[in-house]
Amino acid sequence: MDLFTKCERYTVPDDAKAAGIYPYFNELHTRQDTIVKMDGRDVIMLGSNNYLGLTSSDEVVQAGIKALEQYGSGCSGSRFLNGTLCLHTKFERELADFVGKDECMTFGTGFLTNLGIIAGITDRNDLIFSDKENHASIYDGCKLSYATTFRYNHADMSHLERLLKNAPTDKGKLIITDGVFSMSGDICNLPDIVTLAKKYHARVMVDDAHGFGVLGNHGRGTCYHFGLTDQVDIIMGTFSKSLASMGGFCVASERVINWLRHISRPYIFCASLAPVNTACANKALEMMRADDSRRKHLLEITAYTRAGLDKRGITYRQGNITPIIPIYTHTQEKTFIACKMLFENGVYVNPVIAPAVPENECVIRVSLMATHTKELIDKALDIIAKVLKNI
Ligand code: PMP
Repeated sequence: MDLFTKCERYTVPDDAKAAGIYPYFNELHTRQDTIVKMDGRDVIMLGSNNYLGLTSSDEVVQAGIKALEQYGSGCSGSRFLNGTLCLHTKFERELADFVGKDECMTFGTGFLTNLGIIAGITDRNDLIFSDKENHASIYDGCKLSYATTFRYNHADMSHLERLLKNAPTDKGKLIITDGVFSMSGDICNLPDIVTLAKKYHARVMVDDAHGFGVLGNHGRGTCYHFGLTDQVDIIMGTFSKSLASMGGFCVASERVINWLRHISRPYIFCASLAPVNTACANKALEMMRADDSRRKHLLEITAYTRAGLDKRGITYRQGNITPIIPIYTHTQEKTFIACKMLFENGVYVNPVIAPAVPENECVIRVSLMATHTKELIDKALDIIAKVLKNI
């Protein structure tokens, strides 16, 4: 069979386009704000990971412009050789200090960060225990590492314990969990994970892409939220969400970071973060550190939105305080139709279908920003209620 036969036979997107419900690659013409112009239409943005609303902050944008002027548009090479700026090292020191670990290293994206940490710290002799709902970059990092990977059922601590108990005692072990799960908004059960790690001599890594900036004092993240920063060995986060930029970071002990800095291939063989991305994320961090009111408002507006969904009888995933709110639409078709109708009525949300969620557990994923107002949320929820009733 020809290599490209699968491409020719892959018509799922074409079918959705023909039915007028294709929900992807909408063009934005404005900053990522609470109201955006998308495909020529003004819509309420309920699908951004810009949790603190800082991508359109003038302070962040000005910091980026200044760095662009001072350091130019790119670094051309890796941190290892010709790509280390004083901007990078200053920002890394501030991040390590903010999160509460010895050292920090930065990568080009959050995705690369997971690849770089997991494949750098584990090898074919090690065992990884990974929550089934962990992010795709964790799945890929596990593959790249050649370690034997066990996937425990989402948040199922007895399953995790069974796997740990049955594992050989002489192998290196790493438990990996999202701090806040990207699709469900669930917060991981970190206290139990840490207890199991101690009992079975495993190390713990938390992907805090969605917890950083959102949970814990001033947004220090999921580990801080539980008072367990010192019990977690490796914490990673991204700059593409609360830090309003692009890139990723890893914080850990001096020995672990020293190892990764000399071993991790996506760090050594990849150009370093552009000055503009570094400076924007660093400014966002400074703003988080100076003022916790954005995060507090984000949690308030989240509680308000959840109450508003309850009031309107809309079924969503319960039990969380995070700004990720999945509303059940179940099938792929219904999800695409809901997104399309919402868009036409002035609300943008993200469709989430398999494999990001199990088959028939499709959702529209609402995510909130600190800059959303109650008035805007009321307007959006009325539209969501009307559209979902009509599907
Ligand atoms: N981890 C998680 C949990 C994520 O949700 C994402 C992206 N959505 C990433 C890692 C990758 O981050 P980035 O998009 O910044 O590369």
